[in-house]
Amino acid sequence: MTACWQDELRRAMADFEPDLVAITCMFTMTHPMLIGAAEFIKAMDPEIPVAAGGVHVTNAAEMIMAETGAIDFIGLYEGDEAFIAAIDVGRGAAADDALRQVAMTIDGGYVALGGGMATPPADLDTVPDYLGLDVGGYSELGEIGTFRFWRPTGARSSPVLSNRGCRAQCSFCSVRNFNGYGVRGRSVGSVIDEIKSLHGDHGITHLTWLDDDLFYDVPRMLKLFEEIAGLPFEITWDASNGIIASAAAAHPELVEAAAASGCIGMYFGIESGNTDILSAVKKPSGIKHYLKVGELMQAHPQIFVRGFLIVGFPNETIGQILDTVQLARDMNLDWYTVQLLTPLPNTPIYQEMVDLGLIESGELNTEGEGFTMFSVREGERQRRREARPEPETAAFFDLFAQPHDHVPTKPQLNDIWLTADYEINYARLADMDDPQKLAKIGRFLTDIADRMTLDHPLANYFLGRIHEKLGDSEESGERSRHAARLLENSEYWRQRFEKLGLPSAI
Ligand code: SF4
Repeated sequence: MTACWQDELRRAMADFEPDLVAITCMFTMTHPMLIGAAEFIKAMDPEIPVAAGGVHVTNAAEMIMAETGAIDFIGLYEGDEAFIAAIDVGRGAAADDALRQVAMTIDGGYVALGGGMATPPADLDTVPDYLGLDVGGYSELGEIGTFRFWRPTGARSSPVLSNRGCRAQCSFCSVRNFNGYGVRGRSVGSVIDEIKSLHGDHGITHLTWLDDDLFYDVPRMLKLFEEIAGLPFEITWDASNGIIASAAAAHPELVEAAAASGCIGMYFGIESGNTDILSAVKKPSGIKHYLKVGELMQAHPQIFVRGFLIVGFPNETIGQILDTVQLARDMNLDWYTVQLLTPLPNTPIYQEMVDLGLIESGELNTEGEGFTMFSVREGERQRRREARPEPETAAFFDLFAQPHDHVPTKPQLNDIWLTADYEINYARLADMDDPQKLAKIGRFLTDIADRMTLDHPLANYFLGRIHEKLGDSEESGERSRHAARLLENSEYWRQRFEKLGLPSAI
């Protein structure tokens, strides 16, 4: 069977007749799609040069070149100027010594030109010219950003980058591998010009900031939020990449200005509720900052607030994971994304885990139990576990019945992930009575159940309970019956419901 994207790509290639195909891959979780797309294009036309670039590609360039012969060269780091220079050299419009930040395989060996750290582009203020591309329609096809369910109905969305890099140096993060150290900000005027252009030329009404450190440079951000609030048209925005909690806790005025300028979604990078783990991974925020953020955000119910949490740090004990569960409860954000640690190549934690014998050196470690991909792929891995024969599904590692000094094994982390996600996100819904909060979380769960992870029994079961509390008996009955059907067909989920203290027959 042909995937629909293959039909579309074949059609677009035939219409456009490109001289070169360049593929962006930002996130490690889309690595398989990068390889699949490159190999599909090469199979279609072996003569066409295929290039790749982006954060993940820069981070894992050598592994990618070793894995596939379908990518001819890689543009490393920020490509604003270097990639254009590579094209110019290729077409004879620039001398060979203009080539930099390019990697390829030559005679079977990996070669990176102008290696070392990126040479950052000198000009960050040029407003992109999309040359007639319908960027306003992109959000209908896919998305960057995680607040689709909370945007105004019909909003057209676009990513925007107001500054590059991050002031922090978390050991599991690859941002500085790509952007270098520190933060480089655009002028407020150029960001505003870009927003005006996106709105006026492409009908964009919602922005997703791609900044890794959006609250860097307080006066600049206050000015930017003030100017956005003063625009003669309505804009909403979200910060999907995670705001540094200590920056928000130290500057509540930034949170106020953000809310006044159309913020509807904010992520905070929390990762752990244990002080030793936070210190080991060099997180720039501590428990007091997280609790302050939890308190600050209660004043802005129009903002859907989420937190990133990670379990499975090297040598992390059950007791330390339970600290994370407790912190999440205490912060009382709207939702938390719980991830198994993803050791990204070329990060300090990757090397630490290689040294501890937890992962293989030189590999993405994307398969097998534990230490895999971001939570977005957890649904996929969950499906694989669900499909296993009965004896395997019966085993369950109960997070709350273990000695606190136990360090879980990789397979145990799967059940820990499920239990932590349940305890942090779902269990509290049983006692929640605030209609506004129930409706807010119901909207997110509907997105999970109907779009992100179709036929998710937990999401459907709790949607049934939420609608019951909100007095919508028809929708409540529909969701409950659907959850019951899903349980009838899954031994895995019947057992999990029982272990989680939920009725295994509804
Ligand atoms: S604060 Fe976020 S973006 Fe910055 S280094 Fe840490 S994880 Fe990376």
